[in-house]
Amino acid sequence: MDDKLMLMIPGPTPVPEQVLLALAKHPIGHRSGDFNKIMAEVTQNLKWLHQTENDVLSLTVSGTGAMEAGIINFLSPGDRVLVGCNGKFGDRWAEMSAAFGLEVDTVKAEWGQPLAPEEFKAKLEADTDKQIKAVIITHSETSTGVLNDLETINRHVKAHGEALIIVDAVTSLGAVNLPIDKWGLDVVASGAQKGYMIPPGIGFVAVSPKAWEAYKTAKLPRFYLDLGKYRKDAAKNTTPFTPPVNLMVALQVALRMMQSEGLEAIFARHQRLMQATREAVKAMNLPLFAPDGHSSPAITAVAPTNVESEQIRSVMKKQFDIALAGGQDHYKGKIFRIGHLGFVSDRDILTAIAALEATLRELSYESMSPGAGVAAAARVFAQS
Ligand SMILES: *Cc1c(COP(=O)(O)O)cnc(C)c1O
Repeated sequence: MDDKLMLMIPGPTPVPEQVLLALAKHPIGHRSGDFNKIMAEVTQNLKWLHQTENDVLSLTVSGTGAMEAGIINFLSPGDRVLVGCNGKFGDRWAEMSAAFGLEVDTVKAEWGQPLAPEEFKAKLEADTDKQIKAVIITHSETSTGVLNDLETINRHVKAHGEALIIVDAVTSLGAVNLPIDKWGLDVVASGAQKGYMIPPGIGFVAVSPKAWEAYKTAKLPRFYLDLGKYRKDAAKNTTPFTPPVNLMVALQVALRMMQSEGLEAIFARHQRLMQATREAVKAMNLPLFAPDGHSSPAITAVAPTNVESEQIRSVMKKQFDIALAGGQDHYKGKIFRIGHLGFVSDRDILTAIAALEATLRELSYESMSPGAGVAAAARVFAQS
């Protein structure tokens, strides 16, 4: 049957009908009063979503482009950076920093485990001559479903005083509380196709006054992603280069939807979706990859033992038209991942878990009593 695809991957995420309809409109000129109005509203609402008075700039890039903007605008060749690596996206930060000629030091944890804040503390305290110019962290590590303890790590960065904190919030923004101003986060990158409920094509960077200070002396080459240009033009409700006008209209609609739901309600919903998914997975006797207390509200990774991850994904797709994500890099084939980010409701989780049970049955997985997963998810929904 056509048109029944259910996306349960951590981006692109499902898009609401109101947003799809907004996307169907003719493009408008970006040097027009009509576009200025859209931009003004979107900029205001982005600040609301980011819980900040800082600049939040929109770029025509994927999430990685926003990350790159977060590096090249604030650092200089040879600068020392401390990067947290416990998954694919942490590794990406380290590779990107090395590509730009930064001196990369890392704090590592096994894939599936959270970064240890004390290791950041030790390295930052040892840096008495303040050579560390930035600490770079992935908040929600999408490759493993781990939520890193950004709040505590950031406290150690603040105690250091000099270093900027640069954050990949691509799958945490709009899913879990991330109060930029309250915590004093300097650079926060995110992307449209994740918590924003719109298709891929816009990257966002929030920039603190402290980061703008660093911008003045930063020497890495920049042109298209020179955030100073975006800042200057954002003040006039415009952009330096042609923005994805249709996506901006979609974003306007999506942000209104988020505002009417409310931040607390959005975070509570993601918490509930995560809890229901995790309880269901446990009840099906499948091992969760990320430990309790450190799990991402955007994505649940499962590491099955008596059944093949790729077979599960294949049956889920063929029989139920539900797309799940596989493992990345050396976890390819070893884990599968259930995305529950953005436009996802309790019903979607019940559907996915029921389909997963049916899939496991088809794959002759014996270690589960029928209905146990759905019952566990339903219990969570009944309680919250
Ligand atoms: C999706 C994602 C990105 C960005 O990936 P793009 O493909 O460049 O949009 C970055 N970090 C994390 C944690 C992600 O989940």
